[in-house]
Amino acid sequence: MPLGFVKSLFRDVVDLLYPTTCAACDVFVDGAGPLCPKCADDLYKQENEPACPACAMPLGQHGDPCPYCEGKGEPNFERIVRLGVYSDPIRHLVYRMKYHGRWSLAEFFADRLIEQERVKALLTETDCLIPVPLHRWRQIGRGYNQADVLARRLSKQTGKDPCVAYPLVRVRNTEAQIRVRARSKREENLKQAFGLTDAAAIEGKHVVIVDDVMTTGATLQSVARTLKQGKPASLSAIVIAIADPKRRDFELM
Ligand SMILES: [Zn+2]
Ligand SMILES: [Zn+2]
Repeated sequence: MPLGFVKSLFRDVVDLLYPTTCAACDVFVDGAGPLCPKCADDLYKQENEPACPACAMPLGQHGDPCPYCEGKGEPNFERIVRLGVYSDPIRHLVYRMKYHGRWSLAEFFADRLIEQERVKALLTETDCLIPVPLHRWRQIGRGYNQADVLARRLSKQTGKDPCVAYPLVRVRNTEAQIRVRARSKREENLKQAFGLTDAAAIEGKHVVIVDDVMTTGATLQSVARTLKQGKPASLSAIVIAIADPKRRDFELM
């Protein structure tokens, strides 16, 4: 029996036993995945929706003035860039990345991010990528920090290898913010959530914070305030998604 035939037979049997399903909607897919053609198309559309180049909020049309930051960006940040708004298929993929052990989806997102001109441009000016740390217990429970997987892949794929640095610790377990609804309470909950352990790693550097989802921005602001103590030359952020501004009255776990 020719080897090619055996191989293809083996592949067919494997496909039959373990058919590939779309990581977002679970339909069976031919090929490598992780998305079915419809979800891949939806993701592409999400990635190309108009966004403010400073604060990453959605805009009506490309080039419209930003009603959220008026072109000034978020406090403490030079730029925030993202793949899309937090809706499906991104929302479902992020959920699986965090709670279903699908850490490889973080690498998939990094590869999609790096395809974006706005991300490429930012990374050429970046010295250091800093993943938002999880609290130690959370990381032990999950087995990985999705922001770290994302940052390391981004660094590797740029070809320029900006370092991935770990100058922060999460001193309070503030992740379970889903129960903390009021904005003021949420901000209170995040006060002194992070501690700077290695100021030298970021002093005078162009620093980019990496996280999965920006909901209210309270976590990123808390990280930014902590990092500023180390006197970086600039702070920006790369996230997979930002919450739809009309649906911001919650914070993700
Ligand atoms: Zn799908
Ligand atoms: Zn803006």
